[in-house]
Amino acid sequence: MNNKTLIDKLALSRSLTHGEYLALIEGFDEELAQYAAAKADEARRAVYGNSVFVRGLIEISSICRNNCLYCGLRRSNAACERYKLTPEQILACCAEGDALGIKTFVLQAGEGSFTCDEICAFVREIKAGYPGNAVTLSLGEFSREEYAAMKQAGADRYLLRHETADREHYLRLHPDMDYDNRMRCLRDLRELGYQVGCGFMVGSPYQTAECIAKDLEFIEQFRPDMCGIGPFIPHKDTPFAGEKAGGTQLTVYLLSLIRLIKPDVLLPATTALGTVDPKGREKGIAAGANVIMPNLSPVAVRDKYSLYDNKICTGEESAQCMKCIETRMKSIGFEISYSRGDIRHGSI
Ligand code: SAH
Ligand code: SF4
Repeated sequence: MNNKTLIDKLALSRSLTHGEYLALIEGFDEELAQYAAAKADEARRAVYGNSVFVRGLIEISSICRNNCLYCGLRRSNAACERYKLTPEQILACCAEGDALGIKTFVLQAGEGSFTCDEICAFVREIKAGYPGNAVTLSLGEFSREEYAAMKQAGADRYLLRHETADREHYLRLHPDMDYDNRMRCLRDLRELGYQVGCGFMVGSPYQTAECIAKDLEFIEQFRPDMCGIGPFIPHKDTPFAGEKAGGTQLTVYLLSLIRLIKPDVLLPATTALGTVDPKGREKGIAAGANVIMPNLSPVAVRDKYSLYDNKICTGEESAQCMKCIETRMKSIGFEISYSRGDIRHGSI
């Protein structure tokens, strides 16, 4: 089968074998990417039209107990300035976001910055203040009981990238973490009734076409509600400082393939994609992504939340970020939707 035929097969059956995914990755070129993007655009429009959902990202702490080799927040990075927002500061960010019409708050931080009780307390306050808004957590690994408590407190969604579906690759990126625990977390979150997001970096050190094929197979099997993928970008104070960043084109192509695997998936065009290419987010949306995440963090802490170098949007106020995103989306024929943007199951 030639590669375009494989794209057609994926668009029809939403499923390929490992070998077929591998062929699509190894056979990646601009022409194939354009073909996949057109099919992905069609699949997205059938479910979501030309709406792009916004999620206000609030980076609530730069403290982290983990030591992921790629990340600027890793605990061994002594140059990272650590901060932790107070519940009052978090609520002030939500108030600013709500005033801008944002209906989903994504609270993200390094792992272990907040106890489960602290998280439950601010989630309760946010849900009491903004009952019509969704709260997404992206705070790393916890026990099933802790995730259950956060759900009980009102959290709606959880983002936990699987990072790589290849066990050996996982160990090379996180020598002191446990692949099985990451997968356990994702299963628990799903069983507890969260809308769940997984995802991975494109072009991370040691990643091969085999690894990416496994990521796509994992996504096909796990059927996430959300999927966050973005290019790996080196950070100067990490062991991967000298490594190459992931590419825009491959990331955009993979966004198209993921849209074809799961037409109703909520798929962000990430800040990392906008960092490696000034038009990266527009390219991602045009090729099948349908979520964008303006930054709602206090401007004073934004450059301290330094996962990778040269992160965009660290200087702008939230309102400016929102305007910029609106203009960018309009320029490519998409409309920002100010709804909560839950997954539209069953519409395919
Ligand atoms: N601590 C939480 C959430 C914050 S990190 C967690 O790890 O789940 C959020 C995401 O940023 C990670 O999942 C990772 O995929 C991404 N990330 C970290 N460092 C990066 C880098 N150097 N380049 C691109 N993405 C990176
Ligand atoms: Fe911590 Fe997340 Fe960065 Fe890993 S990726 S070091 S868990 S903030």
